[in-house]
Amino acid sequence: MTLGTRLTLWQTFLLAFLLTAFAVISYRALDTGLRAELDRVLVERADHAALAMQAIPNLPIVGVSPGLSSAFTSPGIYLQIVDEAGRIALRSTSLGADSLPVHADRLAEVLDGRSFYETESVADHSVRLYHRPIIRDGRVIGAVEVGGSLYGVEDTLSRLRAIFALIIAGSLIVGALGSYSLTHIGLLPLTRLANLAARIGRARDLSIRISHAGPPDEVGRLAFTLNDMLARLEAAFNSQRSFLAEAAHELRTPLATLIGNADLLARYGNDPERRTTALAAVRTEGRRTARLLSDLLLSVQADTGWRLDLRPTQLADVLRNVVAYSHPFAGGVTITLAEPPPVTLLGDADRLKQVFFNLVDNALKHTPTGGVVSLQVSLLNSWIRVTVRDTGEGIPPDSLPHIFDRFYRAPGQSHGSGLGLSIARWIVEQHSGRITVGSEVGRGSEFSVWLPVPTPQS
Ligand code: ADP
Repeated sequence: MTLGTRLTLWQTFLLAFLLTAFAVISYRALDTGLRAELDRVLVERADHAALAMQAIPNLPIVGVSPGLSSAFTSPGIYLQIVDEAGRIALRSTSLGADSLPVHADRLAEVLDGRSFYETESVADHSVRLYHRPIIRDGRVIGAVEVGGSLYGVEDTLSRLRAIFALIIAGSLIVGALGSYSLTHIGLLPLTRLANLAARIGRARDLSIRISHAGPPDEVGRLAFTLNDMLARLEAAFNSQRSFLAEAAHELRTPLATLIGNADLLARYGNDPERRTTALAAVRTEGRRTARLLSDLLLSVQADTGWRLDLRPTQLADVLRNVVAYSHPFAGGVTITLAEPPPVTLLGDADRLKQVFFNLVDNALKHTPTGGVVSLQVSLLNSWIRVTVRDTGEGIPPDSLPHIFDRFYRAPGQSHGSGLGLSIARWIVEQHSGRITVGSEVGRGSEFSVWLPVPTPQS
């Protein structure tokens, strides 16, 4: 069942419920009102007749003039007076040849001084009856029985039922048709959007955008959201594609070197000198490939929303470790570390080592022999700042905004994968920190890692 049909059905059900509730309430109100009005007329007539009888002290109840009755009746209203024995003393002319029923048990009740209503069938139609005692000198001398035909009430009610049935049926048909067409007209822009989205899916072209010229209503917002989603999907898809291409490209060089050296070993394995050189190259490239693969893996994990497990970590230990590990690669460059303050951070020690080793390694790679790479730690309010400064070649201003991009290498750089700084930034951000850079060509670069110092209660 389509959304349009479902909405139409719901609206029709609601309309049917409202119309039926309105009809039932109006019908009941009119029914009660008409009957109450008739009852009121009956009481009024009965009271008048009874008072007239009571007001004539010596008038015997039997033999009252029939002319009296016309004063208390009108069309559809019947009056009858009975004496204590149940004999009819007077009948209104509106009764014709008929008379109102006289039951011994009801008469006994009236003679006991009680007044009451009942509905009886007289001459094949319903009549509302009101019984009332006639009391003269403190004694019940007879009963007034006033009847009102219910024909008028029932006729009015049955007409009303027919009118309501017609109105409800008509309104439901018109309402359902109207709702169906309005719902379908209203849903047209949505149908158009759905068709467009299906076309984009079939064409597998994420560059297609939905053109919506209408107002910025719900449909307009949906079109905007879909376009936004498509743009993000397209960007993610493109970045995934370029990531794969870059990753494959990066792996090609070390693998080619590995294969080349394996060939050398196969051919000249007996020559000890060549064998040693080839094995050293295999080892170096093997390590490079392993590091590249672990960087690629970490990059993918960063994309999938993987989070680091942070535990209390001594920053000083991390930095000392990095410096000790870097010394063998210094190649004539001096590495210094100013005594770091004993700060405990919430962090991942291995990943933090990776960040600082990467910064020191970059600094060493870009600093000529005789230069200095210095590490410094300073506390600034609730932040701790670790600076890795070098006296190397610096970074050209054009490259500076891109060095944290994945796979970015400054022009002319043939070494490295361009992954190091992008991973470093991801790791630092996982620690709720940030990484900044300042550099001057020919004078050197300065990378600062800002990490939050946990407050005592956290
Ligand atoms: P890689 O692993 O290839 O070094 P990085 O992401 O670590 O990649 O660095 C990206 C680029 O930033 C490098 O190619 C280099 O050009 C530049 N760079 C990073 N650190 C320094 C530095 N200390 N001095 C000069 N250039 C640097």
